[in-house]
Amino acid sequence: MKCPYCGGEMERGLIQSRQELCWIPGEDRKTFVRAEFHEGAVVLSKLSFLKGSAVTAHLCRACRKVVIDCADGTSDKNG
Ligand SMILES: [Zn+2]
Repeated sequence: MKCPYCGGEMERGLIQSRQELCWIPGEDRKTFVRAEFHEGAVVLSKLSFLKGSAVTAHLCRACRKVVIDCADGTSDKNG
């Protein structure tokens, strides 16, 4: 994947958690970080109680940016 900022090649990797990985709108930290509790939230990786959650992410080391493609759920290792 090409970096949308500099056009350089990005490194494929993973972001993992023991909880559901989701993007939540707003600036405030939440007590319950589950998408179902927050309108407009986007699940990046569903939770597996055995394996946790993991999503494919691409890193540009030059720009220090991380990109997660959550368009169709194929980046979700539990999808
Ligand atoms: Zn870049």
